[in-house]
Amino acid sequence: QLYERKPFITGNWKLNPNTKGEAIALAEDIASSVTSDSPGDVALFVPYPFIETVQNICGDKITVGAEMCTPEMKGAFTGGISPAMLASIGCKWVLAGHSERRTINKETDEYINAQCLKVIENDMSVMLCIGETLGEYEQNLAGPICELQLKKGLAGVSKEDMSSVAIAYEPVWAIGTGKVATPEIAQDVHEQIRATLKNMYGEDIGDSTKILYGGSVSPDSVDGLMAKPDIDGTLVGGASLSGESFGRIINFQ
Ligand code: PGA
Repeated sequence: QLYERKPFITGNWKLNPNTKGEAIALAEDIASSVTSDSPGDVALFVPYPFIETVQNICGDKITVGAEMCTPEMKGAFTGGISPAMLASIGCKWVLAGHSERRTINKETDEYINAQCLKVIENDMSVMLCIGETLGEYEQNLAGPICELQLKKGLAGVSKEDMSSVAIAYEPVWAIGTGKVATPEIAQDVHEQIRATLKNMYGEDIGDSTKILYGGSVSPDSVDGLMAKPDIDGTLVGGASLSGESFGRIINFQ
């Protein structure tokens, strides 16, 4: 199969697993699934204490990223993890704006925008997560909500810097619920997101930016989603915690 954009299969471990030993076993299991026949690039977003360990296990096979960062760069911010710290340990990617951080940690679009800018400034790539709630979906607002979150999240990000940005469309109603969006629903929103990007940055950037789908992706749903023209990859939560499941997703057909 020929792809306009190289597929990008990514996992988000969230607050899992409990121990370094389990993280090692899981990373080894997942890394063993990545072969020269795997169709795309693979990345794992893992908790801070495991980043370097997982990097050592995954080598060139899998890129390792952080699940968030604080945009502040230095000083009296207890508990903060700055982009510079992450870059200094070889971290390549950072997630920004995951819906759990928007709701549980009350991260605003402005804060998420500051994270995006600082991650790029520190020579890493950022995956900006956007998506509507169930109520918004039911009112047909997926497109407009994504447009707003894109515009606010990417404010001040230049056209040149867009090569360091990927978008993850994650409808909140699909995250961790087992209710995956159908390939048709996801494709429809991805198309609107790409149109917004073209509007903001021009045809070329709209065409080259990867837009990933996230929300209850499983071995059963991955092939149908990846067959859609504007779905360039997946951001996988629950199913990235099993080597068998994530291995099947990595090697989608
Ligand atoms: P899920 O999570 O695959 O468990 O729905 C996706 C995500 O939150 O990134």
